[in-house]
Amino acid sequence: MTGILPPDIANAPSPEGAAKRLGEALGLNGPAPMEATRRALSEALYAKALWSSRKIPALRDQLLAAAGQMRISGGADDTPTNAQLVAKSIKGALKWGMEGLKPAAPWVIQRRLGACLSCPHNVPAPDKLVYRGAKVAVGKDARICDACHCLINTKSAISTEHCPEKHPSQPELSRWEEPWVPPEKHPKGPW
Ligand code: SF4
Repeated sequence: MTGILPPDIANAPSPEGAAKRLGEALGLNGPAPMEATRRALSEALYAKALWSSRKIPALRDQLLAAAGQMRISGGADDTPTNAQLVAKSIKGALKWGMEGLKPAAPWVIQRRLGACLSCPHNVPAPDKLVYRGAKVAVGKDARICDACHCLINTKSAISTEHCPEKHPSQPELSRWEEPWVPPEKHPKGPW
């Protein structure tokens, strides 16, 4: 897909060759999964989201693992809630892909994760379709914030993300100890 993926990936002589080159470009230890490679080669918006995520391993791995699952409807276990979450996931990932992703500084990520660690909104990721890719990528212990339904590891790594809850003792701040922003003004993240 010229213009989004580098030409050596887009013009690889075979899907296997493209997967190998995509894996190298994304910093993986081996070829990219074939499902993700096929989508990246055939869908411009997925390619943009994946390419933009390459400096944020947590998000990159989730996009790779979810390549076969990011759809509006599908398997027999799709419930309306799953469909809504998957739709949110697609829209958010594609928007991020188009705008580019900026990772937060390591010390910011550590402070955010520290706050999430002791927060009552930090819960195990439910066994829903949209989170299964994440469980494959980060393990069965994936956690979400039940206030915004985002995956905590990914959300905390994105510079433009916000914690949706006010700090218990400093209402001008969020629980992340950053200026509190009303949730309706948050970027619509996919995770
Ligand atoms: S993002 Fe904020 S509300 Fe959500 S788990 Fe983390 S600290 Fe709690």
